[in-house]
Amino acid sequence: MTAPLIDPFARSITYLRVSVTDRCDFRCVYCMSEDMKFLPKKDLLTLEELDRMCTAFVHMGVEKLRITGGEPLVRRNIMSFFNAMTRHLDSGALKELTLTTNGSQLHRFADDLYAAGVRRVNVSLDTLDEDKFSQITRWGRLKQVLNGIDAAQKAGLRVKINAVALKDFNEPELPQITQWCAERDMDLTWIEVMPMGDIGNEDRLDQYWSLKDVRKEYENHYTVTDLAERTGGPARYVRLEETNQKIGFITPLSHNFCESCNRVRLTCTGELYMCLGQEDMADLRGALRDHPDTEQPLEDAIRAAINLKPKGHDFDYSRQSVDGKMSRHMSHTGG
Ligand code: SAM
Ligand code: SF4
Repeated sequence: MTAPLIDPFARSITYLRVSVTDRCDFRCVYCMSEDMKFLPKKDLLTLEELDRMCTAFVHMGVEKLRITGGEPLVRRNIMSFFNAMTRHLDSGALKELTLTTNGSQLHRFADDLYAAGVRRVNVSLDTLDEDKFSQITRWGRLKQVLNGIDAAQKAGLRVKINAVALKDFNEPELPQITQWCAERDMDLTWIEVMPMGDIGNEDRLDQYWSLKDVRKEYENHYTVTDLAERTGGPARYVRLEETNQKIGFITPLSHNFCESCNRVRLTCTGELYMCLGQEDMADLRGALRDHPDTEQPLEDAIRAAINLKPKGHDFDYSRQSVDGKMSRHMSHTGG
């Protein structure tokens, strides 16, 4: 273990989100265009390179790894990467290994993920209506995802559902989705839709459903109590007294979580994004590939990057135009 990663604003960096592929078997309308062009395979870090990257971060104090994408479970041989990370759980350096998935492949991998030490998964699911599910994911099938969730719970994985809040789309389903999660003992988090990437014709401002309004909708149905719990990220939590359920709200456009931000994001090409809402990144691939036998240059490059972590981000919907719009896709940085 070397010196921990502390940024210029005295924030400890203990959480790394890793996008292992930009590819996906869905084409969610808020995330990708239907004819999305993917990166050439040669630009991607190999699984061994991803291991070296993650290991360097773990040696510098990262305690939580979240594997994401694109869809992480469509990356070929991805289980060998999860299995390799198990050694950091076994050593105690890593406290949590987890992933965010669309659930389409969970039926295949749930048991292996549990065996690798994964205990919790976030599954993204915006609707329980089959037709709407096909509409929003373009290529997805609801049944397959529900089977995946069944398999995950059966394997012993705790499942959290992430739903993107979309006005006039899943707005009417809020009570049903909430009830379904309660019945299955799954936490639920709503995500505010963000202006990321060029996704074709959809107008994201039309889809925008403010989480303030989602919360108000809850108050129409339940007794809502604020919880003090924070995770260093943009999520805030409430409890629904009637069901004793924890509901999260992720409002990435608000600035009020930046002061406690503990995370950075690594893309599948080895770029490190210090802030979800800023274009600034450090390319770590050179430091890795040019020095196959020593980790010092990579560690130096990581420290230099963390020194550039900005205080906060620049999203702003307030003028009804998408100021601060990010040109990259969520599937690149992994959300
Ligand atoms: N494919 C996996 C999945 O869908 O869970 C992991 C990657 S996906 C990019 C991670 C999360 O980002 C998902 O929960 C997805 O709903 C969310 N997401 C994608 N585009 C978004 C956007 N424009 N605004 C808000 N959330 C978005
Ligand atoms: Fe794929 Fe996830 Fe993006 Fe949907 S949100 S297109 S499942 S990466």
